[in-house]
Amino acid sequence: MEFSFLSAFFPERCCFCGGVIRPREFVCEECREKHALRTKTVKCPYCALPRYDCSCTRAHYYDLLLSPYVYDGDVRRCVIRYKSGGEKQLYKGIADIMSQYIGFELDASKIDVITSVPTTPARLKSRGFDQTALIAAELAGKLNLPYEPLLRKFSDDVPQKQLDPVSRTGNVRGTIDLLGGVSVEDRTVLLVDDIVTTGATLDECAATLKIFGANNVVAAAFAVSGYRPERAEKYAKKQLPPETRELLRQERIPFFS
Ligand SMILES: [Zn+2]
Ligand SMILES: [Zn+2]
Repeated sequence: MEFSFLSAFFPERCCFCGGVIRPREFVCEECREKHALRTKTVKCPYCALPRYDCSCTRAHYYDLLLSPYVYDGDVRRCVIRYKSGGEKQLYKGIADIMSQYIGFELDASKIDVITSVPTTPARLKSRGFDQTALIAAELAGKLNLPYEPLLRKFSDDVPQKQLDPVSRTGNVRGTIDLLGGVSVEDRTVLLVDDIVTTGATLDECAATLKIFGANNVVAAAFAVSGYRPERAEKYAKKQLPPETRELLRQERIPFFS
């Protein structure tokens, strides 16, 4: 193992607990066990929550949402450290975890391009970096796929009539648009976000991509919110028979069925 001069002063920190870890690793041994990726489990394809927590009442514009974690505890602390705690380098660990999860859940060669949910220019300026684009670009490198910025976001507080006249979608809300000069025609897009709450932003991005001819939009996020532990406990007691699990698992990946 190599220890560089700098790493002695700025050691790598575990994504989850913040403890010092070996260079080029992202998660400590203890947390690797605690936050082991649970793949091929029964989850809703739209909210990525376990079935007992899903309260989806409608379909979405994206075809599938993949997310390894719920936004809680160590996962939540990791995102906060990354977005506002000055630990910008955490994008590497987040992307590493997401790439492993996506690799388990789908055949990445079916994806043509990776893009990220855009942020407003004002937010970009205040944070100093585009947290979602950093994750998406790193993820693309790990999955050996191209990363391209495809979308842009207008400020939420700009009145409709003041929106950029070149808005191409005619979108009623008009906050997301395709960037000039890019094409998504007949492409399958992996759309990356850091956390997903209602899925409304993903929907707006996915709708925009599809208006411009994208074939499929698979969304991926580090975490989803909406987990209710008391329901998880109740559900864990009811073991599903294997054939039911298999049916649900197939339903989980409609994109490839
Ligand atoms: Zn740890
Ligand atoms: Zn759901």
